[in-house]
Amino acid sequence: MRPTAPRAWLRMAALCLAALGLAGCGPGAQESATQHRFMAMGTLVDVTVYGVPAEDAEAAAREVEQLFHALHRAWQPQGDGALGRFNAALASDPAAAPPDPDLGALIAEANRLAQATGGLFDPTLGALVQLWGFGSAERLPAAPPPPEAVAAWLQQRPLQFDLGGFAKGVAVDRAIALLRARGIEHAIVNAGGDLRAIGRKGDRPWRIGIRAPRDPAGVLAALETAGDEAVFTSGDYERWFEYDGRRYHHILDPRSGYPTTGLVSVTVLHSNAGLADAAATALMVAGPEAWPTVAAALGIEAVMVVDADGGIQLTQAMQPRIWFTDEAYGAQARVRSLP
Ligand code: ADP
Ligand code: MG
Repeated sequence: MRPTAPRAWLRMAALCLAALGLAGCGPGAQESATQHRFMAMGTLVDVTVYGVPAEDAEAAAREVEQLFHALHRAWQPQGDGALGRFNAALASDPAAAPPDPDLGALIAEANRLAQATGGLFDPTLGALVQLWGFGSAERLPAAPPPPEAVAAWLQQRPLQFDLGGFAKGVAVDRAIALLRARGIEHAIVNAGGDLRAIGRKGDRPWRIGIRAPRDPAGVLAALETAGDEAVFTSGDYERWFEYDGRRYHHILDPRSGYPTTGLVSVTVLHSNAGLADAAATALMVAGPEAWPTVAAALGIEAVMVVDADGGIQLTQAMQPRIWFTDEAYGAQARVRSLP
């Protein structure tokens, strides 16, 4: 059912967006929602809980914070966590096995997604990410790598895992599972604008803003979550640098070794945050023509993409779910059906 009079809360969503980063908030957000905020996985994470006593909400949210820090350590591609050690082992022995069953299961799932997307989602491009210099959370690269180095990666494809394309989604799923285990039924876990919401905010659904790709403070569209849903966006504006007047960003096309072109952002709606995260990354690689085929292969139905000219495409399942902040966006949006 399509709620009425979205105008006022769209304006509110824009305000909340400016104040909080893309948190799920709206009129009355302060009433009895408890919010806990921290930095993890290189991004600001907001845990918003509704419907339980504040001290229970805060205790659970602090556990979520510990969970995020632990997963960040375990899943960093370099260093002494489980994945860092596995990558170090792979460098000398390509047949090495993952050090623990949890990481093993995560890598198996990543490989399954790679297969379903024909390799567009590629968790084995760790060495390419390092080559580009997108591996560091603190610093952005100053220049692209030499073309010969990219060509060498394309030939050799050394096996090094990078789970950056879906680790945040999996972490959000685990955070929601933790909250549920603590008896919490209404919550949002929002990691830098990518989020999963469960339940409702009192007598109405959670409301979410989707950022406008070329306007850090702007909201392109808004939606209300229906029960248990994740909303994940991948864009060329998350991590990027300019060199010689050209823009280079952190989502890489494993076929060329270069940043993807054609789409500036992809937003995916699905109950599973890990899948939504991986799908958003994979669809960025698929580009303006092929994305519906890849969405269908992953079992994703609700998608919105923005192309390099600002054109908006969305699926039939997404269309009734979102409100554009500007009617002109909605008027030019093109509906694509999935194969
Ligand atoms: P963000 O996490 O910034 O919202 P994404 O979910 O799209 O963005 O993930 C981007 C990260 O995924 C990159 O920083 C890199 O670690 C990894 N990555 C880049 N290209 C690919 C790809 N083609 N397949 C899988 N992972 C990728
Ligand atoms: Mg992703």
